[in-house]
Amino acid sequence: MGDTHEPSLFPVPGPDSHRQPPVDAPRPWESVDRGQAARDGATGPEPPARPICPHCGLVGERRPTYTGRHVLLEPLPAVPAHLVPGGHRWHIDSGGQAWNSGLNEPPPGTTCHVPHQLACPGLTLDEIKPWRWLEAVREENARRARRQADEDGLPGALPDAG
Ligand SMILES: [Zn+2]
Repeated sequence: MGDTHEPSLFPVPGPDSHRQPPVDAPRPWESVDRGQAARDGATGPEPPARPICPHCGLVGERRPTYTGRHVLLEPLPAVPAHLVPGGHRWHIDSGGQAWNSGLNEPPPGTTCHVPHQLACPGLTLDEIKPWRWLEAVREENARRARRQADEDGLPGALPDAG
């Protein structure tokens, strides 16, 4: 009973549903992907450039990512994920594509790959910001400390006007 009144939530696939848009058609998610790639550190170098770090000249292991950009990884075996700061843990799926597990807690025993950026001798820690979430907390604390110092700098109690 009532089954016939159920609205159709999904469009029924038509004969053209398998067609893909032209390769050069703008995709609405491209800017989102670019932002995600930058946050993940998937900043190339993109082929056909050689997989060489622009900051130190060392060769890395370049992998495609799901954002359409490439990431340069350290050419090392995977290391225990808990040793690598969150946001910098890269995994490689069976198709050879790399993905960043973000700030998710790694399950016990998980391993991951280290992005070259973290180990690059051509970048300072200020440039790499290995602990980005902690950086945000530090900046907020700096604002709070300044605000508190400003408040404490005022003359103690306002003179009694009564
Ligand atoms: Zn480098």
